[in-house]
Amino acid sequence: MLSFVIPAYNEEKNIETMYARIKTLMHEIKDEFELIFINDGSSDNTFEKLNDLAKHDKKVKIIHLTRNFGHQAALTAGLKLAKGDAVISMDCDLQDPPELISKMYQKWKEGFDIVYARRLNYRKDNFFKKLGSKIYYRILNNFSFVDMPRNVGDFRLIDKAVLQEINNMPEHSRYLRGMVAWTGFSHTYVDYHRPDRAEGESAYSLSKLARLGMDGMFNF
Ligand code: UDP
Ligand code: MG
Repeated sequence: MLSFVIPAYNEEKNIETMYARIKTLMHEIKDEFELIFINDGSSDNTFEKLNDLAKHDKKVKIIHLTRNFGHQAALTAGLKLAKGDAVISMDCDLQDPPELISKMYQKWKEGFDIVYARRLNYRKDNFFKKLGSKIYYRILNNFSFVDMPRNVGDFRLIDKAVLQEINNMPEHSRYLRGMVAWTGFSHTYVDYHRPDRAEGESAYSLSKLARLGMDGMFNF
């Protein structure tokens, strides 16, 4: 079985499309799956939309967080619930195209424990974000003993053996992409061009991004 872990913060306009696209895809792949959505304290209709889905489809499981805890915390909550033989974490705004999943699934079947989706047009959107990200990862890689994968976010597949390690880690300020790499399991990549967000606004404000960066640098 495949588990999907999808944090959603004010994603009311994307939830149904996301659900439909994953369902179609899994119909082609022909494997069991569960869809875990984590409502990270949304202030729009994400709550109602998710409850509606869960009412009609037993494969859909939902965690409603009491407030906005942030992307990494939402992912962590979902990973704790995942029961699959492999788990795919992805964004809810269709920037992580569901169609890439069959490629990731294939690599897992070939025996890789971690499959990263790697962005070919990383941060094409904003010159400063791109420059900042380049400098950040260069510094992080110089200080860290862990070989960090380049140009990847939190769109990846992990085997349940990796999941077990991640779930056993007691860290509170979690930098998941670092922690996954740290486990040392076999890994590979599938490349893709990252599209723009389908609907809504990016919730990764500069302060949230800075906090993620600080967690990576100081806590991880
Ligand atoms: N997200 C979340 N909590 C937050 C911010 C974002 O759960 O506080 C989710 C969001 O719904 C999306 C994913 O994390 O599924 C990535 O967020 P976003 O698309 O805003 O980030 P960007 O793609 O701009 O880096
Ligand atoms: Mg996005």
